[in-house]
Amino acid sequence: MNWKTRIRVSDLAPTQKLEIICRQCGRLAYITGLDVKDQSLYLDELERRLRCKARGCRGHARLAMVRLDELTGFVGGLA
Ligand SMILES: [Zn+2]
Repeated sequence: MNWKTRIRVSDLAPTQKLEIICRQCGRLAYITGLDVKDQSLYLDELERRLRCKARGCRGHARLAMVRLDELTGFVGGLA
């Protein structure tokens, strides 16, 4: 079972972050569901539409769910 085919953008909690990793250059970016215009997209559809924003790359990206407990630790470490 693939969670990406079952979860819509609109199903995500507002604070849930998604990690976008470029398959080509490895560029990492974060978005939340609120950053996505089309809330009816399933996450696998969103993943197919994502393109790396790095200059000259435009590679396909892999979407991953960021676990909130890990994220909290990460943010705390930066503060
Ligand atoms: Zn890239």
